[in-house]
Amino acid sequence: MATKSELKAHYAKLARLGCVLCAHLGHDTYDQPVEIHHLRRYGIPRDQAPAIPLCAGHHRHFKDAVHQLGAKGFEKHWGFSLEDKLLEVESKLNE
Ligand SMILES: [Zn+2]
Ligand SMILES: [Zn+2]
Repeated sequence: MATKSELKAHYAKLARLGCVLCAHLGHDTYDQPVEIHHLRRYGIPRDQAPAIPLCAGHHRHFKDAVHQLGAKGFEKHWGFSLEDKLLEVESKLNE
């Protein structure tokens, strides 16, 4: 299990990647403020679940935000799942 300081370092790395949906749309994500979205895993505490970086708009506010669409609606709208983006994020972190 990751410690608080390990999580903090991990989130800082995620934040440097910028919003995965803005990146998908070709927007400039340089120095973009991001929020951390956790992908829920059964039996795993929220802060230990895998996470992806999203801007506030794509996380919560936009019509096509993760928390507006829900998992099924998200996949239908975007044509990929958050799990797909998680794999991309994890491979970028390992580069
Ligand atoms: Zn975004
Ligand atoms: Zn979230």
